[in-house]
Amino acid sequence: MQRSTKIVATLGPASSSRERLMELVKAGIDVVRLNFSHGTVEDHRARVELLRDVAHEAGRTVGVMADLQGPKIRIGKFEKGPITLAPGQMFLLDAECKLGTAERVGLDYPELVEDVKTGDVLLLNDGACIFDIERIEGKVIYCRNRHEAVLSNNKGINKQGGGLSAPALTPKDMADIKTASSLGVDYVAVSFPKNGSDMRLAKLLLQAEGSDALVIAKIERVEAIANLEDILNATDGVMVARGDLAVEVGDAAVPALQKRIIRTAREHNRFVITATQMMESMISSPVPTRAEVSDVANAVLDGTDAVMLSAETASGQYPVATVESMVRICVEAEKTQEVTLDTHFMNRVFTRIDQAIASAALWTAFHLKVKAIATLTESGSTTLWMSRLNCGVPIYALTPKIRTRYRVSIFRDVYPLLTTYVATDRDELLFQAEEILLKAGAVENGDLIVLTIGEPIGQAGGTNTMKLVRVGEHRLVK
Ligand code: PGA
Ligand code: MN
Repeated sequence: MQRSTKIVATLGPASSSRERLMELVKAGIDVVRLNFSHGTVEDHRARVELLRDVAHEAGRTVGVMADLQGPKIRIGKFEKGPITLAPGQMFLLDAECKLGTAERVGLDYPELVEDVKTGDVLLLNDGACIFDIERIEGKVIYCRNRHEAVLSNNKGINKQGGGLSAPALTPKDMADIKTASSLGVDYVAVSFPKNGSDMRLAKLLLQAEGSDALVIAKIERVEAIANLEDILNATDGVMVARGDLAVEVGDAAVPALQKRIIRTAREHNRFVITATQMMESMISSPVPTRAEVSDVANAVLDGTDAVMLSAETASGQYPVATVESMVRICVEAEKTQEVTLDTHFMNRVFTRIDQAIASAALWTAFHLKVKAIATLTESGSTTLWMSRLNCGVPIYALTPKIRTRYRVSIFRDVYPLLTTYVATDRDELLFQAEEILLKAGAVENGDLIVLTIGEPIGQAGGTNTMKLVRVGEHRLVK
């Protein structure tokens, strides 16, 4: 069954065996996320290699995202695994503690001690655990725990109201950018960017390593909301990072922000991922809650490109069932979504020829109710433009570039298909395109389709031609 909305699944201990990864790929994940807050370089490398292998075997295109830790302030590790905190108990954040116990844990950001004062409220693990700071002595923060809570390795710490200042790219992130480049990842997510410059720096560092990965700005700070336009101009995509965002702006403000971020991102030709706690209860339950079903469906209706799973697939008990549920919810929500081209997009200014063709193809596809749009694309940018509006028609990215196949895998409504440019003759090329679409089961003989190509053949950013074709007619006589 065709699904427009894409699924990003975080890999972790619960999803790293070959069998499990195969089940996840078959269940429908489109992109995997490597969380650089956890795991070693070897863990990430092994996962990428296994994933590429498994996806190839399953005949599916699955992109890879590296998610940088960023300046998120996190607790250290525990000596004997997760601990349970009792309500009202005292717990120590101790910059000098190496391995945590039931009474204290270390910090990966010792400067936190200088950033806080008595009376401040710290939220750990996206607010699941709340600490009131009672006093600070030397390098130790004495916290009173409010509610019973479980705490495990490297959980994040936020200060209520935001305002912890640290640069978006830490020395660890810069090292991880090198690792990500060497792994050949398709996307790099930057945590806690404050403005467009943070994103430009990430892009530059990647390019210096020879990586053409798309960059994703995680919108999770008060400052990022204020600078949303600036960030959108400097990034390829954004993530509605609801975990930290909720702590910074207050949880009740997040649903409206999610809608605004998704709308604005699409208007700026950027892709957008909705993330965190989408299927949270499925970490330990085989079925989602009604609220989670509604949350995923509403993100689809808001127009998100992708929905993301974090602990559900990284360390949960039901990673495959979670993806299967998500697939089911997305498909159902898409059925109910009304297809109307948003007319204010009509007034959008564009100056590029490929963009003009993309828009023309979209309007034509919508009005003639064609079966498919097929775009012969080098960089994938034409398909991104086309997918910014919901025209109700699948967009096939026919590309000879393996890398392009991966990078379009996160765009809503876009389906990558590998092609070869053996022909430089246009008619021969269009014939080939029809064959690929027929073979993929995307069209049948007699279907009307819109094809876009760039002539001369094989140059990025060169889309300048649109043709309406009835599949199977006017076949070349060979
Ligand atoms: P994280 O980012 O899971 O890396 O913290 C997502 C979020 O904050 O929602
Ligand atoms: Mn976050």
